[in-house]
Amino acid sequence: MPIVTADIPVSIKIALDKEIARVGGDESAAITAALAEYLGTPVHTLFQVSTSGALVAGVSSRAVSVKTILDHGDFGLGTFADLDGEMAVLDGRVYQIQGNGRVLEAPADAGAPFAVVTRFTPQIDVEVEPLAALADLQAACDKFRSSSNIFYAFRLDGRFSRIRTRAVNPPRQGGRLIEAAKSQSEFLFTDIDGTLVGLWSPGFSSAFSVAGYHFHFISADRQHGGHLLDCATGKLQLRMEALTDFHLALPETESFLKADLSKNTAQELAYAEQAH
Ligand SMILES: [Zn+2]
Repeated sequence: MPIVTADIPVSIKIALDKEIARVGGDESAAITAALAEYLGTPVHTLFQVSTSGALVAGVSSRAVSVKTILDHGDFGLGTFADLDGEMAVLDGRVYQIQGNGRVLEAPADAGAPFAVVTRFTPQIDVEVEPLAALADLQAACDKFRSSSNIFYAFRLDGRFSRIRTRAVNPPRQGGRLIEAAKSQSEFLFTDIDGTLVGLWSPGFSSAFSVAGYHFHFISADRQHGGHLLDCATGKLQLRMEALTDFHLALPETESFLKADLSKNTAQELAYAEQAH
């Protein structure tokens, strides 16, 4: 993280020390929080557009633009209007991994029905040993999570000896996610460099989000990717941020406002998220 040196009046320094004594923590955290508020730039905040349940129920028309998504974060996951592929947001760029395997950089005016992003500010940056399967990857990430009740963003960079992904194909007009999942394409890549963009969400969030781990892959050459199904890896660079603020933006589209979202769609979502 960058280091900033600044001259400040004694009165501000006294007030700052008082605040640090009051909340605990260190000078960097207190100054970052103050600057974030003054500059209107939230830190450790996850922004989500729409709900996973709405997506499952077939509310997949455009709710926001890619530009709006990037206004709220530079890192995250989602899908595109009419379920036209998987979204990976990395380093402030939005990639669209389509069901035919093509990867495009989405233009600012492209639409999305669902997305979850943050301004990635990792607090942990470590190297992890090679991993044999998805379960090992999840276990490696688990070691750095100190709670099951907040959200986490994970970024893993390196070489994948084997990686299996999928990307949804648009279902018929107004079809449900489960139909898109049935017609999804699966991909297998070997010895490929790339990045996993991941989120971990607490169990209680299953009413509106994808509980547990959710990773999307994008290759280093930005030619391949998809929703992660399984992988074996070489050494990876793991970066993690704990996210303690959550902002949920609900679409004002007619399809969202009129949808029946009273049913629990966690099971249907779990099916859609898996390999078939
Ligand atoms: Zn996904």
